[in-house]
Amino acid sequence: MPESVQIKVYGRCRPPTQEEADKGMKTVVKCSGDKMLVESGGKEHSFSFDGVYSSDVKVKNEQIYKERCEPLLQRALEGFNVSIIGLGAASAGKTYLMSGTESDPGIAPCFIRNLYQAIGERSNKEFFITVSYLEVLDLKMSDLLNPHVNQMKIRHHPHKGIFIEGLSEIVVHNWEEMNQLYEQGTRVKKLGAKDIISSQARAHSVFTITIEQRTRQSSKVGVRSVICLADLAIGEPAGTSVNEAIPGVKGLMNVLSALGGPKKGSPVPYRDSTITRVLQDSLGGNSVTLIFAVVSPVDKAHKDTLNTLQYASYAKSTKNHVKANLDETAEIIVDLRDEIAKLRDKIASTSTPSRDDVHKLEDLVQDLQIAKMSTWAEREKLSKKVEEERKVNLANKGLLDWVTDSMKKGDKELQEKMLILQKEKDVLTSQYSERRKTVDGLNEELQKKIAEYSKYQDSGKLTDSETKKRVTAIHELKEKLKKESEVLKQIKSQLKDLAEKQKEERDEAKSQMSAMKGNTELRQQVEKEERLKIEKENRAMIADEMEKMKTELETEKSHIQLKLTENKTHSTQEVAQLEIKLAEMKLEKPVTTMKIQLLEQEKDRLIRELDDVYQVHKDEVEYQRLRHLETFRAYREMFEEQKVALDQRYRQLLEDAIQDAVFLSSRNSELQEENQSLRQQNAEMRDSITKLGGRLPSQTI
Ligand code: ADP
Ligand code: MG
Repeated sequence: MPESVQIKVYGRCRPPTQEEADKGMKTVVKCSGDKMLVESGGKEHSFSFDGVYSSDVKVKNEQIYKERCEPLLQRALEGFNVSIIGLGAASAGKTYLMSGTESDPGIAPCFIRNLYQAIGERSNKEFFITVSYLEVLDLKMSDLLNPHVNQMKIRHHPHKGIFIEGLSEIVVHNWEEMNQLYEQGTRVKKLGAKDIISSQARAHSVFTITIEQRTRQSSKVGVRSVICLADLAIGEPAGTSVNEAIPGVKGLMNVLSALGGPKKGSPVPYRDSTITRVLQDSLGGNSVTLIFAVVSPVDKAHKDTLNTLQYASYAKSTKNHVKANLDETAEIIVDLRDEIAKLRDKIASTSTPSRDDVHKLEDLVQDLQIAKMSTWAEREKLSKKVEEERKVNLANKGLLDWVTDSMKKGDKELQEKMLILQKEKDVLTSQYSERRKTVDGLNEELQKKIAEYSKYQDSGKLTDSETKKRVTAIHELKEKLKKESEVLKQIKSQLKDLAEKQKEERDEAKSQMSAMKGNTELRQQVEKEERLKIEKENRAMIADEMEKMKTELETEKSHIQLKLTENKTHSTQEVAQLEIKLAEMKLEKPVTTMKIQLLEQEKDRLIRELDDVYQVHKDEVEYQRLRHLETFRAYREMFEEQKVALDQRYRQLLEDAIQDAVFLSSRNSELQEENQSLRQQNAEMRDSITKLGGRLPSQTI
C-alpha cells in the first residue's frame, strides 16, 4: 500500500551580495520562527513553512543538508524515490544552495558524499548506480553530461515510471566519479547559459541518481530508487506578458497551483510543459519530496520573492503517494529462462507441436532479450559506449579540455609547486650561464697573458721588475678564476638540488597520473613530454660536462706552457706544486669521462624503460583486441548453432504441415467417396420403399 507523505518545504533567504551591499540596497525579507515575512507595498506578507533559514545567521549549506536532507538519504536507501528541489527566481541563490562553492559545498555534493559513506557501511549489499543530468529550457531538453544533438523523448515505463529516451545514463563506481560528473554537467550548464540571453531565468536542471541494490548472494529481488536533485526556475507572477513567453516556467506554476493552490482539485496539467512531465513523480507522485524556496533579500527582487514563496506554499499542502520500488529484473530473467526451457522441452517432445506454443516461445525469447538489456552488465556496457561518445561530443563543443581539467584539480597544488621550481631553475640557469661566460673570459685572458709572457721571455729583453709584474698579473688572474669557478660550482650544486626536487615532484605527479586509470591518451602524452624533458636535460648536462672538460684541458695546457716558460724564474718548490696540480688534473680527466659514460648509460636505461612501458601498453591493446575477436567469434558460433537449430525446427514444422495437408486431402477424398456411396444407398432405399408402396417423410436432405 502506498504511504501518503506531504511535500516538505523550507524557506531559504540568501545574504545580500557584495554588490547589493555596496549599493546599499534595501532588504525586505525577515524570518521569524517558521515564517518568512516580506515587506511589499507598505504591507507585510507572511508565509509559513516547515522551517526557514534566514540570511542573518551564517549557516552553511552542509548544515542545511544535515538537518533536512540526510533523513531523505535513508529513505532512498530503503528503495523510495527522493526529490530535493531548489526553487527560486534568477539570482535567488538556487545554484549556491544546490551546488555551492569549494568552501561551502552545496546540497548535491553533500548528498553524493553522504551516499557513498552510507554505501560503504553496507557491505552485505551490492549496488548499481547510474546518473544522468538533464537541462530543460522551455520545451527543449539537453543532455548536460553528453551534449549531443539527438532527439530526446519523455516516456513512461510500466514498472520504472517516467524516463527520458536518449538521455545518457552513466554508470558510476565511486564518490569521485559521481561528483566529477555532477561538476562537469553543472559547468556545461553554466556555459550554455551564456549562449542564450536570459536563459538562466528559465532554465531548469535535474541531476538524477538511480540506485539499485541487492543483498549479496541471496535474494533475486532488489530495491530501486530514483533521486532527483533539481534546480527549478520560477518567474514573474502569472498573467504578465513576460510570463507568456516562458512556457517552461508557467507550466511549473500551473502544476503547483493545481496541486495545492487556487486551482486545487482540478486535473493537474503535467503534460503542458516538459519540466512538469519530467518531475511528475516528484510533484504529487511516487517520491519523498523536499523543496527549498530560495529567495533574495533585496527590495528589487520582492516580486520574485513573493511569487516564489506563494507557489512554494502551494506545494506544501501536496500529498505524494510513495512506496518502495522493487527491482525484479533478476527474478524476471530467471523465471523467463525457466519458462522457455519448459516450453522448449514440450515442443521437442511432440512431433506435432501446437502453433500457439511456438508463438509463445518466440514471445518469451523476445521478453528475455528485453529483460537482459536492463541487467547491470548490459547497462555497464552501454555506459562505456556512452563514455566514448561523450568525449567526442564534449570535444566537438570545445569543452573537453575544459571539462577534463577538473580532473586535474587534485594536483593543482602540485602543478603550482612545479611551476615555482621551474622558475627558480630558470633564474639559476641564467645566472649559471652568465658566470660561465665570465669564467670563459677570464680563462681566455689568462691564456693570452701566458702566451704574451712566453713571447716576452723568448725576446730575451728580460728585466726583473717586468717579469715580476707579469707573473703577479698572471697569478692574480688565476686567483680570480679560482673564485669565479667556485661560485660557478655552487650554482651548479644548487641546480642539481633543484633538479632532484623536480624529479621528486614529477614522480609524485606520475603516481597520481597512474591512479587516473582509463585515460591512456593523456598518460601517453604526459609520458612523452616527460621523456623529451629527460632527454633534453641529459643532453644539456653532457654538453655542459664536455664544455667543462674542454676548459680544464685548455687550462691544463696553458699551465704546462706557463710551467715551461716559468721554470727559470720559479723555485723548485713551485715547480713541484705545479706538477702536483697537473697530476691532479690528469687524474680528474678519467673521472669526468667516467661521469659522462655513466650519464650515457642512464640515458640508455631510461630509453629502455620507456620502450618497455610502450611494449606493455601495446601488448595490452593487442590482448584486448584478441579478447574482442574471441568474444565476437564465440557469438558468431553461437549464432550459427542457433540458426541451424532454427532451420531444422522450421524444416520439421514445414514437413509436418505438408504431411498434414496430404493426409487431410486424402482423408477429404475418402470422405467424399463415403458420402457419395451413402447418397447412393439412400437413393436405392428410397426406390425400394416407393416400390413397396410406402410413403416417405418429407425430404430434409
Ligand atoms: P541562482 O542560481 O538562483 O540564479 P545564484 O546561486 O547564482 O542564484 O546566486 C546569486 C548570487 O548570490 C551569487 O553571486 C551567489 O554567490 C550569491 N549567493 C547565493 N546564496 C548565497 C549564500 N548562501 N551565501 C553567500 N552568497 C550567496
Ligand atoms: Mg543558477
